[in-house]
Amino acid sequence: GLLPGWDAVEEHVAAAHSRNRSAGSGEVADYIPILAEADPELFGVCVAEVDGAVHSAGDADVEFSIQSISKAFVYALVCEEFGHEVVRDRVGVNNTGLAFNSVVALELNEGHPMNPMVNAGAIATTALMPGRTADDRWAAVITGLSRFAGRPLELDDVVYRSETATNHRNRAIAGLLESYGRIDVDPLEIVDVYTRQCALLVTARDLAVMGATLADGGVNPVTGEQVVSAEVCRDTLAVMASTGLYERSGEWLFEIGLPGKSGVAGGIVTIAPGKAGIGVFSPRLDSAGNSVRGQRATAYLSRALGLNVFASG
Ligand code: GLN
Repeated sequence: GLLPGWDAVEEHVAAAHSRNRSAGSGEVADYIPILAEADPELFGVCVAEVDGAVHSAGDADVEFSIQSISKAFVYALVCEEFGHEVVRDRVGVNNTGLAFNSVVALELNEGHPMNPMVNAGAIATTALMPGRTADDRWAAVITGLSRFAGRPLELDDVVYRSETATNHRNRAIAGLLESYGRIDVDPLEIVDVYTRQCALLVTARDLAVMGATLADGGVNPVTGEQVVSAEVCRDTLAVMASTGLYERSGEWLFEIGLPGKSGVAGGIVTIAPGKAGIGVFSPRLDSAGNSVRGQRATAYLSRALGLNVFASG
């Protein structure tokens, strides 16, 4: 295999969990009110190999909202639809160096969203999803992300309502995109689709399989379905590497050396191209909104399994 043998991977996944279980720093997100009620002790780790082998430890089957991790997969679907040049020019591929929900980043760049992994670019990306109506676009999002996961994903209605009641900043961002002529759809309708997209329920195991699909040239290693092309995976992983952990993307790449994407419910997906996807979940976050134990567990696995793409050997 491309990773060490089955038993070795099982051991490393168990160690990534047990060695970081007591890492207690970070705070559960509270700007979306319902997320503040998450159990801060939950901690799941999962590795899905491109040959379909899945290894997990801890709370790998506990559901949580995907949040910003959805951005990577919706981006891949939009890349599949429009191709390399269009998404580069319309959404952008450069890091903002600013928080994920920054309005300043948009204003400084004449209303051009800078990349698909922060809210402005993600809302612009969701606006490019195929469909005539907002419902069509939502159907395309849920169908597409379910194909990555290899099972039908469902909306967490409570998370969706909680964020809808408080997402004034995202509505402002969509309004700015509209005022700069960057989206061709109703801004409030597209924020609603984006908010649903973020409230889809996944597990660490789902994230590992979704990541393994991007690691495997777009073929879901569990279902065998070709979800997107290999070129789309390559482009999506490049943007994840430079922007997936927001303004901490440089630190992440330096420590872990792999493309990843975090979400404020505490999930992180990481991709070892050609080898595996890693899904982790732990709700306590650093100040940029990235899971603390999730980053530590992923760093451990990158080293233990020899996954850093910059390592010569
Ligand atoms: N739904 C969240 C938002 O738009 C997602 C943010 C995140 O996970 N960083 O604010």
